[in-house]
Amino acid sequence: RMKAVQPGDLPYVEAVEEKAETEWDDNVGYFVKKKLPVWCRLPSGQWESGTVQSTTGEEALVLLSDGSVVKVSTGEILPANPDVLVGVDDLIQLSYLNEPSVVHNLQYRYSHDIIYSKAGPLLIAVNPFKDVPIYGNDFVTAYSQKVKDSPHVYAIADIAYDEMMRDEVNQSIIISGEIGAGKTETAKIAMQYLAALGGGSDGIENELTQTSCILEAFGNAKTSRNNNSSRFGKSIELHFSTFGKICGAKIQTFLLEKQSRVVKLADGERSYHIFYQLCAGAPSILKDKLNIKMASEYHYLNQSNCLAIDDVDDARKFHVLMGALDIVQICKEDQEHAFSMLAAVLWLGNISFQVVDSENHVEVVANEAVTCAARLIGCSAQELMLSLSTNKVKAGNGDAAKKLTLQQAIDARDVMAKFIYASLFDWIVVQINKSLEVGKRPTGRSISILDMYGFGTFQKNSFEQLCINYANERLQQHFNRHLLKLEQEEYELDGIDWKRVDFEDNHECLDLFEKKPLGLLSLLDEESNAPMATDMSFANKLKQHLVGNPCYKGENGGAFSIRHYAGEVLYDTSGFLEKNRDPLHSDSIQLLSSCSCKLPQLFASNLLDHSQKQASPLSLGAFDSQKQSVGTKFKDQLFKLMQQLENTSPHFIHCIKPNDKQLPGMYEKDLVLEQLRCCGVLEVVRISRSGYPTRMTHQEFARRYGFLLPKDNEYQDPLSISVSVLQQFNILPDLYQVGYTKLYFRTGQIDELEDMRKQV
Ligand code: ATP
Ligand code: MG
Repeated sequence: RMKAVQPGDLPYVEAVEEKAETEWDDNVGYFVKKKLPVWCRLPSGQWESGTVQSTTGEEALVLLSDGSVVKVSTGEILPANPDVLVGVDDLIQLSYLNEPSVVHNLQYRYSHDIIYSKAGPLLIAVNPFKDVPIYGNDFVTAYSQKVKDSPHVYAIADIAYDEMMRDEVNQSIIISGEIGAGKTETAKIAMQYLAALGGGSDGIENELTQTSCILEAFGNAKTSRNNNSSRFGKSIELHFSTFGKICGAKIQTFLLEKQSRVVKLADGERSYHIFYQLCAGAPSILKDKLNIKMASEYHYLNQSNCLAIDDVDDARKFHVLMGALDIVQICKEDQEHAFSMLAAVLWLGNISFQVVDSENHVEVVANEAVTCAARLIGCSAQELMLSLSTNKVKAGNGDAAKKLTLQQAIDARDVMAKFIYASLFDWIVVQINKSLEVGKRPTGRSISILDMYGFGTFQKNSFEQLCINYANERLQQHFNRHLLKLEQEEYELDGIDWKRVDFEDNHECLDLFEKKPLGLLSLLDEESNAPMATDMSFANKLKQHLVGNPCYKGENGGAFSIRHYAGEVLYDTSGFLEKNRDPLHSDSIQLLSSCSCKLPQLFASNLLDHSQKQASPLSLGAFDSQKQSVGTKFKDQLFKLMQQLENTSPHFIHCIKPNDKQLPGMYEKDLVLEQLRCCGVLEVVRISRSGYPTRMTHQEFARRYGFLLPKDNEYQDPLSISVSVLQQFNILPDLYQVGYTKLYFRTGQIDELEDMRKQV
C-alpha cells in the first residue's frame, strides 16, 4: 500500500491532479460533491483532516475524523491526498504538495518506524531517537544487490558509489540538519555501508569505523540540545581503487569549539566526553601515574552540575576508546602522552591564585594542582607558577617580570589549557590520517561524507555559534544552487517551457558576513586590531555599517540579531574580539617549548614555526595584524571546502528532529514543518516533480536511437533525427521537451526507448 503508487495510476488521482492547488478555491464544490478528504486549519493553528459537507463559498462545514463538525473559512481548507497515497516513499508522488500533506506523510511513515523518505533527489531522515532494525549486513547486502530500493542512507551511499565507479567522478554526501537532528549518526551509517562495499583485506574499513569513536570522544559533548553534540565539523574523504576497494581516507576537521568548553561550561552541559571517560575508566596504573581523580574534583568539569549522561557509561566508553586508539595504530606510549595532556588540562583548571597587593596582583597558590600540572607537562612547579602569574616585559638592560592581576592570571591559565586541548585534538586527527593515509596518486574515485555542526540557537549565542551558523549558510547555498538553481537555469537557458519555482535565496545573509570591507567578518577583524576597541564598540560598528542589510535585525546593548535562512538568532558580542584574536601568552608558549615532555614541545613548536613564517611576535592580549584571526581562518577553510565540494557530484541528506526532547515516538508537527520550510524541501519537491531528470544532447540522442528509424533518415541533422524518433515511437508530447541543445525527459521515458533499442 505504501509503495509504487504513481500519480496517474488511479482515475481519482488523475482527476484531482489536473486542478492546480492555486485553483483550489473553485474546487471546494468538487470536493464536496465527491466527498474527498481535505485539511482544515482550526483556530488553534493545527491542521486536521476531514471531509467538506457543504459550502457557501466563503465558509464550509467540515466533518473531522473524530466525528465533530466545524465551520471554517474556505481559505483555511486545503486538499488532502487520497488514502492510497498516504505514506508514499517519495513526496513527489503526492498529488497535493501542501504543507499539512507533506508533514502528515512523514508522520505516517514515522509512526510505522519508516524514518527515511525521499523528496525528489533529497533523502529526508527523521530522527527516531531509538534503535530501528534497518541496518547491518543483511540490509547492506539487500541494497548493494538492488533487492531493496526503499529510501535509506544505504541507497544514497549506493548511488554515490555506483556513480563514482561508472563515471570516475568524485562524489560527496552532504548531511545537513539542526543540532541533534541525526547528522553524525547518519554519517556513520553512510560510512558503514561504504566500508562494507569497499572493504578489502587490510582492515582499513575497521580503522575507519573506529575513527568515529575517537573523534566523538575528543570532539563531542553533552549540550542542552543533544547529549552527543559534535562541537566540530568534519569531512571524511574515502578513496577507492580501480576495483572499488577503499585504499585510504582523509579526515578534515573544522573549528573545534575550544574557545569556551574546556574551561567554562553552561549549566547542565558537559565538557568534551573524553575527560569524563578518562576519569571514570582509566586503569588504576594509569590513574596513579597521572594522578587522575574523579571528575567531580576538577573545577573545569564540576562547574555545571552535570557530570554524567543518562544511559551512558563513561568508563566502558574509555575501554572502547583505548581499543580504537590501538586499531588506528597510535602506540601505547603516544596514547599515554595524550592522556597526560588531558590530565594536565584538568589540573591546570584547579590552579588557584592569591591576591598579594592592593592592586589585585596575584601569586599562584602552591598546591597539588600546580605540582601535578607541572609534572604532566614536564617543567618545574616554579617555572609554571612564574609563567601563570607574571608577564615578561623589556626593561632597561634585560627582561623584568611584571605581576599579573587576578583576571589576567586566570586568563593566562585558561588560555594555556585551551591551547593544549586544541593542539591535542589536531594532533589526534593527524595521527589518524597517518594511519589511513591515502596514496600519493589522486584516484579520481572518492566519496566525501560531510557532517558539519548543525545550525542552532541557544539561550546565549557567542562567536562560535556565529561561525557555525555562518558555515550552515554556505552549505545551504550549495544546496540551493544544486537542487534549486542550476536545474532551473539549465531549463531556461535551453529555452524549454518552464514555470519557475521561486525559493528563498540566502545571498544577502552571506553578503552580511563576507562583504569586503564592510561585512561582519571584516568589521570584526578591524575591531580586533584596534587598540581601544571593546565588544560594545564592535556592536556599534556593526549597527553603523550593516543596518542596510535586510538580514541584520538590529542591536540591543551588546547584542545583535541576524536573520539566518533557518531563523533569527541573537548574538551576544561579549568576548567576540578576544575569541577572534585568540591571543596566546608568550611566556606560556616559551614554557611549553622548553618542557621535557613530547607533546607540549611539539604543540609549541608547531605554533612557533607557524608564527615565524608569518613573522609575528606573540604577546598577551594584543592582536598582531600578521596573525590570521579565527574568523578569517575559518572563512578561508570554509571556502576551500566549498571549492572541493564544487568538484564533486553531490548527494544530499537532510536530517529532521521530530522533537526537542530527544524522545522516541514523539512527532511535533510544527517543529518538523519549520525545518522543512527553512531548508527548502517543498521547493525541491516541486521542481523535481515537474522537472525533467533525464537529459541528452541532440547528438547523443540521434547517435543512440537514430538507427531505429527507416534508412532514408540517415543524412538529417541530429535535431530532426531526434524529433523523428520521438514521433515514430509515439512518445507523448508532455513527457519530453526539446531544448536548443538537449532533449529533456520525464522520469522513466528513456527506459522505454532503451527497451526498444534492445529489441532491435
Ligand atoms: P549535532 O549538530 O549536535 O552534532 P547531530 O545532528 O549530529 O547533532 P546526532 O548526534 O547524530 O545529531 O543524533 C543525536 C541523537 O539522535 C543520537 O545520539 C541518537 O541517540 C539519535 N539518533 C540519530 N539518528 C539515529 C538513527 N538513525 N537511529 C537511532 N538513533 C538515532
Ligand atoms: Mg553531530
